[in-house]
Amino acid sequence: MGCNIAIDGPAGAGKSTIAKRVAKELSFIYVDTGAMYRAVALYLLKMNVNGQDTEGISKACTGASVSIEYKDGEQIVMLNGENVNPYLRTEEVGNMASVSSANPKVREHLLNLQRSLAAENDVVMDGRDIGTTILPDAQVKIFLTASADTRAKRRYLELSEKGVACDIEEIKKDIIERDYRDMHREVSPLCQAADAVLLDSSDMTIDEVVEEMLRIYREKVA
Ligand code: C5P
Repeated sequence: MGCNIAIDGPAGAGKSTIAKRVAKELSFIYVDTGAMYRAVALYLLKMNVNGQDTEGISKACTGASVSIEYKDGEQIVMLNGENVNPYLRTEEVGNMASVSSANPKVREHLLNLQRSLAAENDVVMDGRDIGTTILPDAQVKIFLTASADTRAKRRYLELSEKGVACDIEEIKKDIIERDYRDMHREVSPLCQAADAVLLDSSDMTIDEVVEEMLRIYREKVA
């Protein structure tokens, strides 16, 4: 098994930004499991599967062959042989991912890919159930969170910088709904693993969070 750092937390807590930086500092690979769920969601949308159609999702998801490649350190998600990175970060795909990821067949479909990446490499893996379900033996587990207001503000700034028109109250509503779905689903709900360290980034800069994670890593592993 490689050295595994598991980072879980709600949408918009800064997991991917922080995980990427920590992975770079340690020369680990960064595994964004949310992007895998988004790839499956993209496939379901393309196949016109309704988010409420549990049976339909269970059947269709097996047609989504997801794999990961790395180019210049960046994770590329391949869906049925195509690089789908440019299509994963839309609100439509995010909302479908939040619904379809509650489906046990979808989770089962991605489990082996996530576990084998962690078995073969030193990884910083982020998601919702990494410390609890995917990598229960990870050497370092962090639960990264921030207030809903902070997360909505960050997402608003990120979208505005990209020139995407958006409304902060809508974003906050979406975030709260997504948190609720992630925390209340039956399979692998979002929750802090008993042995995870809680980090609230509401009043911390990115540099401070990265430093704190590296400190926790050194304390536990190095
Ligand atoms: O983190 P991100 O917003 O990209 O994840 C998209 C969706 O995928 C989340 O809303 C969550 O429902 C789901 N997800 C999950 N388990 C993971 C990673 C993401 O259920 N390990």
